[in-house]
Amino acid sequence: MKIICIGRNYAKHIEELANEKPENPVVFLKPDSAILAKRMPFFIPPFSDDIHYEVEVLVKINKVGKHIATKFAHKYYDEIGLGIDFTARDVQAQCKAKGLPWEKAKAFDGSAVISEFYPKENYNLEALSFQLLKNDAVVQDGNTNAMLWKIDELISYVSQYFTLKKGDIIFTGTPAGVGKVLENDVLVGAIENKEVFRIKVK
Ligand code: ZN
Repeated sequence: MKIICIGRNYAKHIEELANEKPENPVVFLKPDSAILAKRMPFFIPPFSDDIHYEVEVLVKINKVGKHIATKFAHKYYDEIGLGIDFTARDVQAQCKAKGLPWEKAKAFDGSAVISEFYPKENYNLEALSFQLLKNDAVVQDGNTNAMLWKIDELISYVSQYFTLKKGDIIFTGTPAGVGKVLENDVLVGAIENKEVFRIKVK
């Protein structure tokens, strides 16, 4: 399986990183080795002093597809989840400055937190609220109604480049409020204020 990540999909997050609003979605990949094993803590890697959390709604692809039209994209997923796209912001800044790829900053071991998946029909995906709490304080409070590109548009867009396969996961971008993690932080992700994952930082 592969993990396809979308960058810059919420206007307020683009502003907080002083990025330009893109013409098209920003896309990058994480390998399956990036997945943080269930019930494992997240270990801050030695190559970074500035690891950021980014909470994101996840979509799990349910069948193979390529060049999927937006109007048919809803047929390609039944379940959604929540995750964290851990980012080595200092390493990413170096990559960006040199115009280099982002993998070292985005695709390292443990950088993909993935919750359980839940049937999409239980939710209103047009206005799904999701939260990240750090040490019991809400640090990110997002809603899919603020996405620049909706889930179906993202599926259509990425499928122009990558054949989607059953089990692939799309990280749909993070809202504002990203920030640094420190040792002993506890990160809790919630969909509609219901806890779906809990991660200890070591
Ligand atoms: Zn992200």
